[in-house]
Amino acid sequence: MKIISYLNENQINAGIVHDNTVIDVSNEFPDVLSIIKAGHNGIDRLNRILNSNVEPRPLISEHLLPPIPKLERNIMCVGWNYLEHFNERFRQDIDLPTKPTVFTKATGTIAGPYEGIPLPENFTQKLDYEAELAVVIGRKGKNIAEAEASDYIFGYMCANDLSARDVQHSHGGQWFMGKSMDKSCPLGPWIVTKDEIKDVQNLDIYCKVNGKIVQSSNTSLMIFPINRIIAEISKAMTLIPGDIILTGTPSGIGVKRNPPMLLKAEDVVEVHIAEIGSIKNRIIADNAR
Ligand code: MG
Repeated sequence: MKIISYLNENQINAGIVHDNTVIDVSNEFPDVLSIIKAGHNGIDRLNRILNSNVEPRPLISEHLLPPIPKLERNIMCVGWNYLEHFNERFRQDIDLPTKPTVFTKATGTIAGPYEGIPLPENFTQKLDYEAELAVVIGRKGKNIAEAEASDYIFGYMCANDLSARDVQHSHGGQWFMGKSMDKSCPLGPWIVTKDEIKDVQNLDIYCKVNGKIVQSSNTSLMIFPINRIIAEISKAMTLIPGDIILTGTPSGIGVKRNPPMLLKAEDVVEVHIAEIGSIKNRIIADNAR
């Protein structure tokens, strides 16, 4: 099932994408988070709505919002989780990590799947892209065993972990500032529920800038698979329904290209993941106060 948040006459409604149309579910669910929190029961109710001859509405991509439009917590992210990306950063001169690198992006980073992304030119001269698979947590859990971690997943989205490279390492090594610009995390275009994905650790993932492929990999190349990431993070904190975890980006980021290829105003960035879909965002010059 593909679950969306979309604009409907200035209201934010929850819906299901079915045969390229939208089945609105706002009569039963005020928002997507309430679907996630309803667990198996929520999916059963969605299936009943799907089978009840509800009049479908047109799917208008410009009306799609981040699937969870308002976050309760920061987005959790794993750094350096694809071997070739780790090597492009460290040139194979240190040992592979034994624990994932985890940081967060502020809640204000979320953006819609086709929304313009402001480029704060007075803050960064090195805005970069990172195509990533995002995991949406569906159940509350602490100290989750790796073998049971998939029970805690609700579904998956495409994500772009847009990063200010010149800021990322200039605040005492803390990445938060360079990773938390407003709207620096477009998500979507929907949450694909996990039952639709046969093997989440074997999906092609790629990123395009202005139509040219700049990253191309497969989720099988993650150093820490998704279940391990969930196990590790939940050692520290209770995961709750609606939490979002970004699982790292493959090699090919702009700052490491020769010559470097950082994002500028009017560039168009796409993230594609097999069986999930794609997001496409234009970079917009922005020096708003
Ligand atoms: Mg990243």
